[in-house]
Amino acid sequence: MYSELGLYIDGKWLNGEGRKGEDVINPATGKALAHLPHASKADLDAALAAAEKGFAIWRATTAYDRAKIMRKAADLLRERFDHVSKVMTQEQGKVYPESRAEVLTSADIIDWYAEEGRRAYGRVVPGRQKGVRQIVLQEPVGVVAAFTPWNFPTLTPVRKIAGALAAGCSIIIKASEETPGGCVELVKCFADAGLPAGVLNMVFGVPANVSEHLIPAKAVKKISFTGSIPVGKHLAGLAAKGMKKATMELGGHSPVVVFADADPEKAADTIAAFKYRNAGQVCVAPTRFLVHESVYQPFVDKFVAAAKGMKVGNGLDKDTRMGPLANPRRLDAMESFVNDAKSRGGKIATGGSRHGNQGFFFQPTVITDVPDDAKIMTEEPFGPVAPIVPFKTFEEVVERANSLPFGLAAYAFTSSGATATAIGDSIQSGMVGVNSIAISTPETPFGGIKESGYGSEGGIEGLQAYLNTKFISQA
Ligand code: NAD
Repeated sequence: MYSELGLYIDGKWLNGEGRKGEDVINPATGKALAHLPHASKADLDAALAAAEKGFAIWRATTAYDRAKIMRKAADLLRERFDHVSKVMTQEQGKVYPESRAEVLTSADIIDWYAEEGRRAYGRVVPGRQKGVRQIVLQEPVGVVAAFTPWNFPTLTPVRKIAGALAAGCSIIIKASEETPGGCVELVKCFADAGLPAGVLNMVFGVPANVSEHLIPAKAVKKISFTGSIPVGKHLAGLAAKGMKKATMELGGHSPVVVFADADPEKAADTIAAFKYRNAGQVCVAPTRFLVHESVYQPFVDKFVAAAKGMKVGNGLDKDTRMGPLANPRRLDAMESFVNDAKSRGGKIATGGSRHGNQGFFFQPTVITDVPDDAKIMTEEPFGPVAPIVPFKTFEEVVERANSLPFGLAAYAFTSSGATATAIGDSIQSGMVGVNSIAISTPETPFGGIKESGYGSEGGIEGLQAYLNTKFISQA
């Protein structure tokens, strides 16, 4: 029922064969699902050589033909959605309907990029002299090295793979060792769709060893990373040493501002469901709730009721609404957030503890009356803990929302057009949802500012990230 794991290098699947490796754990049971082989140094060098060869083949393939193979991979992923969803729920813990949505969105992302690759337009600029043509071309950057985390095992790899392939780049992806199956299944779709050997390569290993080997390699021209800010800064430094392009999708701490003229109960219903999606382990999860004092209590009451009504359990069970955390590190982190908040006078309105006696479950939690300098208000929670605090004025809430060094996502609820415009303009964030949580679609740019990173995935910006601009003056 789980995935057959392996490395994929130069069009071949490689498994154990004397390689080191690690077990993949089901976070709902704490038991091993499968063994994952790690790439040796020789495997990484083979992947680099394969990607160079693959780039030569793929950049010579027309965007029209690239799109045909990509669309076939998207169709295969759709056909296999049930299996891939079950693989992800087992390795990551998210509930089956969320896994299914992730798989189907991943297929849409491939389709979007497949088409957008056909629109990698350049332009002709009028020359200064007669007979001179000034041509601007968009060319693929070359071999890409990409690194993805454990919270979206298919979606984060697909954004990088589809963007790179649409632009004509080849890619080596190192997906998360903790949740490798989602990416393995994705790569199988591309392989079965007829992607030439070497264009897409997948490796696993000790993350620092793999990134320190691949990023400085001469063949690699572009880095893309999704994960934590400290690791992102380290990898951006490695990329800078070789003056390599980089896209960094890092963490955030998304404020949610609920104004006095919003419907507090409707807002609480919408945002609480979004908060507990993937047990809160989402980089754009709403994480700091700033609610106008006049609607504070009805908002808190409705939010707490939603948290209490959230059935926690194995993500494969039909009535489960929230699964386990993905690993024991998150459990320790949640306990630390809760203890710190309590020590600063925070009140636990619901939850606050581990759930059950097997796996990595934590209760949907709401904390009120917590000061702005508490850990839960300043560090990304990446888990099912929601702090809710009141505010009085627009200026005050904007200052508090913008006070952290992050700027990935932000949300606001208001019934006033003027306030909607003002908050959209004032908030320092790569993405803002006003009366909306739809901030991540294949067609729109997804990315942060400040310490949340740079560059976008999705939209026309997502393709641009894998292209170099070349100017030709032709007399
Ligand atoms: P971590 O910092 O150890 O790892 C984050 C991710 O980076 C993991 O997938 C890991 O495999 C990878 N990684 C770590 N060191 C690496 C290296 N030297 N080279 C390449 N990849 C490397 O933290 P963690 O315990 O896995 O997660 C904790 C925090 O990370 C969370 O609290 C959250 O803030 C952040 N995170 C963010 C995202 C996101 O979508 N932006 C995803 C997962 C985790």
